[in-house]
Amino acid sequence: MGSQQTLPALKSHPKYIFFTDFDGTITQQDSNDFLTDNLGFGAAQRKPHNADVLSLKRHFRDSFQEMLDSVSANAGFDTCISSLIQNITLDEGFKAFFEYAGANNIPIVILSGGMEPIIRALLVNFLGAEKADSMQIVSNQVGPRFEGADINAVGGWTIVYHDDSGFGHDKSLEIRPYANLPEGERPVLFYAGDGVSDLSAAKETDLLFAKAGKDLVSYCETQGVPFTTFTNFYEILDEVKAIVEGKISVHDAAKGRK
Ligand SMILES: [Mg+2]
Repeated sequence: MGSQQTLPALKSHPKYIFFTDFDGTITQQDSNDFLTDNLGFGAAQRKPHNADVLSLKRHFRDSFQEMLDSVSANAGFDTCISSLIQNITLDEGFKAFFEYAGANNIPIVILSGGMEPIIRALLVNFLGAEKADSMQIVSNQVGPRFEGADINAVGGWTIVYHDDSGFGHDKSLEIRPYANLPEGERPVLFYAGDGVSDLSAAKETDLLFAKAGKDLVSYCETQGVPFTTFTNFYEILDEVKAIVEGKISVHDAAKGRK
């Protein structure tokens, strides 16, 4: 099929695809919030930014750019990466989920509003290079702030957005070609996320896992998007396993807030 050439996650003819956010979902902390709070303008200024995006007063893209600009003004990109490697931890159940997904032909596709080299560096640190490279990452990039700038110098780097959307990276654009596949060719699509950058993806998949206690839960409730909550990837693993084994349907799994 032509679609299989353009849709990388179909290569192994999977029955299921697991799309997931990275920050605060695969990791226990949000790396961009961490950078902003510790190297940028700080948590007191960041929190109103997040609230404005969630209440749709501002585009994620512009708010996020300001956050990261405040980090760039104080730290080179390599300093950011080493600080994150020392401070960001992996979800306690993710390794078990990763192994199960690999053994059961469930591609994991990371859709992130963050920057690819940061995600890569953290995954290599958590899982080793080979496992990290087995996952497709679709995210924003980093680039020199001006021509000839060194990204590892203070003030030298900037986020380079993936697309022109108000999200900077509209995650729904990545999922929709899979969602639109004809019956019989279309895998079951899962998505896991926790926050503002997941708003665009939330409506596209068959079962949405929203992190308990986080912004995405209240968004799904106000928008009427079916979801189930999770606290770590062990819970996601249990649900996905039950679906793969035919014990529950994706529809039954969307129980809302537990
Ligand atoms: Mg997140």
